[in-house]
Amino acid sequence: MQDFSPSFPEIREAVRKLCARFPGEYWRALDRERAYPTAFVQALTEAGFLSVLIPEEYGGSSLGLGAATAVLEEVHRSGCNGGASHAQMYTMGVILRHGSPAQKEAYLPRIASGDLRLQAFGVTEPGAGTDTTRISTFARREGDSFVVSGQKIWISRAEHSDLMVLLCRTTAREDAAKPTDGMSVLLVDMRTAVGNGLTIRPIRTMLNHATTELFFDNLAVPVANLIGEEGKGFRYILDGMNAERILIAAECIGDGKFFIDRASAYAKDRHVFGRAIGENQGVQFPIARNHVQLSAAELMVERAAALFDAGHPCGSEANMAKMLASEASWAAADTCLQTHGGFGFAEEFDIERKFRETRLYQVAPISTNLILSHVATHVLGMPKSF
Ligand SMILES: Cc1cc2nc3c(=O)[nH]c(=O)nc-3n(C[C@H](O)[C@H](O)[C@H](O)COP(=O)(O)OP(=O)(O)OC[C@H]3O[C@@H](n4cnc5c(N)ncnc54)[C@H](O)[C@@H]3O)c2cc1C
Repeated sequence: MQDFSPSFPEIREAVRKLCARFPGEYWRALDRERAYPTAFVQALTEAGFLSVLIPEEYGGSSLGLGAATAVLEEVHRSGCNGGASHAQMYTMGVILRHGSPAQKEAYLPRIASGDLRLQAFGVTEPGAGTDTTRISTFARREGDSFVVSGQKIWISRAEHSDLMVLLCRTTAREDAAKPTDGMSVLLVDMRTAVGNGLTIRPIRTMLNHATTELFFDNLAVPVANLIGEEGKGFRYILDGMNAERILIAAECIGDGKFFIDRASAYAKDRHVFGRAIGENQGVQFPIARNHVQLSAAELMVERAAALFDAGHPCGSEANMAKMLASEASWAAADTCLQTHGGFGFAEEFDIERKFRETRLYQVAPISTNLILSHVATHVLGMPKSF
């Protein structure tokens, strides 16, 4: 498949070279065990690819979100998966934008170098679902500490992270002026928290994603680890979500290209009834349609990233990019599996694994219905339904 407009060609080339060291066998073995790709994450970190969003003054490369999308797209196009590492790129944004000078100095250079892993982002709760204002994990102030009790679910990479950005309530919803007030962001040091008020329980899922449930039982977090102002955490978290959605959309573009590359190659090679299956338009057209859909989604991802890097509002574009890209990658996954016939189901082709992996993105980090609701009410001005 031909790229429409390959931005950051040198970065792409370097990422492809790195990924070639982590072929399908590597990912299949981890997938079977649901094991974390430590060596891959280490290689990305050492190459500096996870610190492209961190400013140079803190040891990153200040390259911006456009470069970060190029990294993750190539990771996924190569058959690898960025899910184990991508949070190291953007979760630090909450410290960068809202942390104190002392917090930035203490954490950002060490996150940039990889000495500190900031891979965990704790928002979702079983009782709240997508309605984040209903979270009930509560941090009560006791002297120099916040004491946290409650529960989180689907918190990925918690076992492989030194720090976690945690959203919790510091004022109960009913006592806050607005439902979005009264939430705060704490930086939790996982190295001391586990066993001292924090318990992590892994959740086995249909894909290898190192996701977990967290139980907080009077976990003490120093007040010095509060990011920004108490009670304003919801707004800080929302800022970071645009970056997350654009980066996930780039992963979907990479997945889509992986599926289209594989499907078109197989359609040319596989001969049935005395000719290549790709000579049949019934096989060609779905792949061509996937290419058309993915190319359009790619333009929206580029637009959202350009707006983000220019410091303009990009919430709607980030949402639309994520929706279009996740639907295009899923459609391409389905076509690719169909094109491969029985072999699409064979582990060694890596298609069934990528098929499972790319399905996630229509649910997380935000589900398609919630994006449509945002567009309907915020962009088109239709009445709110909830
Ligand atoms: C593998 C995995 C990794 C994850 N990693 C993280 C992580 O690291 N950190 C974190 O905080 N969270 C994480 N999540 C959580 C993820 O962000 C949520 O699963 C996602 O936002 C959907 O929320 P929910 O599961 O609570 O679904 P719910 O909110 O229960 O919704 C269920 C379904 O109902 C639909 N729905 C709900 N309300 C409406 C409505 N008003 N109108 C129309 N449709 C509606 C939704 O679209 C969805 O399809 C992860 C999830 C998974 C599966």
